[in-house]
Amino acid sequence: MARTGQRAVVVGASMSGLLTARVLTEAFDRVTVVDRDELPGEVAARRGVPQGRHPHGLLARGREILEELFPGLTSELVEHGAAIGDMQGDARWYTDGHLLRQSPIGMQAVALSRPLLEERVRARVLALPEVELVAPAQLVDLVAADGRVSGVRVHRGGATAGGADEELLPADLVVDATGRGSHTPAWLGSHGFDRPAESRIEVDLRYTSWVVPRYDGDLDGDRACLVGATVARQRFGAALAIEGNRWIIGAGGYHGDTAPTDLAGFRAFATGLPAPEIAQLMADREPVGGPWSYHFVSSTRRHYERLTRFPRGLVVTGDAVSSFNPVYGQGITVAAAEALVLRDLLAVGSDDLARQFFRRAARLVDVAWDMAAGGDLRLPAVPGPRPARMRLVNAYVSRVQAAAAVDPEVGAAFLRVANLIDPPESLLRPRLGTKVLLAQRRTAQVGPSAADRPEPTVRVPRPRDLPRSESATATEHPRREA
Ligand SMILES: Cc1cc2nc3c(=O)[nH]c(=O)nc-3n(C[C@H](O)[C@H](O)[C@H](O)COP(=O)(O)OP(=O)(O)OC[C@H]3O[C@@H](n4cnc5c(N)ncnc54)[C@H](O)[C@@H]3O)c2cc1C
Repeated sequence: MARTGQRAVVVGASMSGLLTARVLTEAFDRVTVVDRDELPGEVAARRGVPQGRHPHGLLARGREILEELFPGLTSELVEHGAAIGDMQGDARWYTDGHLLRQSPIGMQAVALSRPLLEERVRARVLALPEVELVAPAQLVDLVAADGRVSGVRVHRGGATAGGADEELLPADLVVDATGRGSHTPAWLGSHGFDRPAESRIEVDLRYTSWVVPRYDGDLDGDRACLVGATVARQRFGAALAIEGNRWIIGAGGYHGDTAPTDLAGFRAFATGLPAPEIAQLMADREPVGGPWSYHFVSSTRRHYERLTRFPRGLVVTGDAVSSFNPVYGQGITVAAAEALVLRDLLAVGSDDLARQFFRRAARLVDVAWDMAAGGDLRLPAVPGPRPARMRLVNAYVSRVQAAAAVDPEVGAAFLRVANLIDPPESLLRPRLGTKVLLAQRRTAQVGPSAADRPEPTVRVPRPRDLPRSESATATEHPRREA
């Protein structure tokens, strides 16, 4: 790739900043990564990424991109304790109260803690000869003249601005990867540019996470259980296998339905989820980590793509552009896909990099945003307009999810979309539509969805062990003997 410039500065060394730095090494001689945190040399949560203490699922498309950018990363993660399995065969997905019928589909999934993922990616990025780290250092201001950003001023040593430790880092390109709290909108406003318009979906999630030991035979060997909210039970949860034979378990609710931080309260809360596994995992063991709580107010999207004027020499990416309801696990994957967009644009060279980047990134964000918005606005607790098209799509998706409980091919198609591999339109293929209709008859025969079933008192067998027509009633079957 042709060299675009001498130096790029990336502010933010979380997933988006790291992936961006990786692609910038193909176009710049020197890539300086700035973060206000002192970055740990080991696997540890840190202040600048408080969400790191909560379950982080890595979508299949995100894993693919990470593997492309860092060949061998998946194996490396597994060597460091990540659990690997099949996205459909080794995970339990409850969507709209239906347990997707489990069956291997050849889509690899890794389950691990967020700090492990970030630490391994950081190690790879910092090993690149073009990359230097400036941390801890707080971004003080962007430096600009004549409509062009030409560097950043940072305060070495962390939080407070001003003083002797302030330093200018000149750059041909500055990338803002500082996450949701990005100051670029305010900076634009105070430098004669329009601020980007914002879209929000007020989900008002409050959730709590714990780490508990993971034993052989838990969930009959499955590596993950992901439980989406239903209209009847607007609570969600996730249990992910992580390194060190542990589960990270999180659960929460929408609009005031807060998951308690005391153990007894959390256990009781978990029994109100639309599926039983999380309550079962929490019931019989003492936590070894947590509780940690998180309040996620809204999915937020900043429409940089709509701006007609934007300073040259600056790009904004990752959560600073769009941060999604974490329940859908999209953030890292969208950030990774944005890094590829930037790489492609730099490879061909562009006089109008930011504008082209925002336009192409917006198309990625559209897909993820529409899926998350559609899912959230199904729930009565979430305020917002529900246009006819959205209601129609939601009605169809609901049928797809019901069909996925009995037909693994439908489940695979659904997961390929949810994992940002295939576009949502792929669910409209005639063959799939026919299967959805046929499955509707079968689901009608096998009874109500998980959300409406009574709480089981026994361990849940894997649905693939059951005769086909019984999969949707899996929770009513007794434990399979070893
Ligand atoms: C509770 C929760 C759960 C989530 N779960 C998932 C999931 O399951 N799957 C998934 O893919 N995504 C998930 N996400 C989203 C995911 O964490 C982010 O999309 C991902 O980290 C990429 O974000 P980012 O790098 O753009 O910003 P962030 O991760 O927010 O990082 C911003 C970085 O910028 C640094 N920084 C900020 N301000 C300054 C400054 N002024 N000067 C210097 N440095 C600064 C911070 O220290 C930090 O390192 C979740 C998010 C939340 C909140």
